Amino acid sequence: MLKRKRIVGGCYLFLCLVVFFLFLPSVVFSYDSASNDLKKYISTLEEQSARYGWTDIKPGAISWEYYRTTKSKHPLVFTHFGNSTGNCILFLGGVHGDELPTVYLMIKLADYVKDNQSLFKDKCIVIAPLVNPDGFLSASPARVNTSGVDLNRNFPTRDWQAKAIRQWIAKGKNKRYYPGAKPASEQETLFQVALIKRFKPQKILSIHSPLNFFDYDGPSSDLNSFEQWMEKICKEANHPLKKFGYYPGSLGNYAGHERNIFTLTLELPSSDPKHSSDYFQKFQPSILKFINLPVVGLPPHIKIINN
Ligand SMILES: [Zn+2]
Repeated sequence: MLKRKRIVGGCYLFLCLVVFFLFLPSVVFSYDSASNDLKKYISTLEEQSARYGWTDIKPGAISWEYYRTTKSKHPLVFTHFGNSTGNCILFLGGVHGDELPTVYLMIKLADYVKDNQSLFKDKCIVIAPLVNPDGFLSASPARVNTSGVDLNRNFPTRDWQAKAIRQWIAKGKNKRYYPGAKPASEQETLFQVALIKRFKPQKILSIHSPLNFFDYDGPSSDLNSFEQWMEKICKEANHPLKKFGYYPGSLGNYAGHERNIFTLTLELPSSDPKHSSDYFQKFQPSILKFINLPVVGLPPHIKIINN
């Protein structure tokens, strides 16, 4: 009886080993192929950066993560700094692929945080520098993604079904603002939603161009404090503050209005890539102040402290 058990056990172990070695190549292969795809993507980004004269950013030096790809098979990458699992700030760049300097600013910020990690030990900083790689890397950079969707109109906001398509039609069906056939239809939107769900940021900074202002959305409970803080920051940066409002499917609506996250939009003065380095210098102090802005509580009950 004992011998029989041993034989059965041995067969079971043998079977497990066979299954393990049968599947091992596919696991190794998929890991290698993901890592090769990432390497290829980063070198494409480096080539594109060189074309724009962005010689002082180092996309290859950052440790990127990705779990999703776009329709054109570009990895949707992000990086994460700091030891804290709470108090996260999320940065989003290149949501519109033709707003070129926004991508530079986000990679430059990632370089800066990586090179000064001791300053950000107790922080949680998540940077997704290029939400719309398909638009950014297309022969002629485009606002929309490969499917022609404006990613800042595709968030699954409560008013999307009733208003997104209707407003787009009423405003003349401009292809640059197409919200998609349904909410969250795009991988790039799901990517941003997943980052918000995973990191539960209390603060978000999304960078756009070329409208030249700061805009914000946030928790109704403490919007006044945020507004006062914004006024101070705008004065210091000599950059106008404008309450631009939000749209069906926009980030300000999804994150700021519906989820009560402090959501700041920085609109750079132009989309010209040759000004990118100047813009980083101009806005770096405001960006660092936003990282350091002390906020307590979790959405929807978050507040600025010591303001
Ligand atoms: Zn934009």
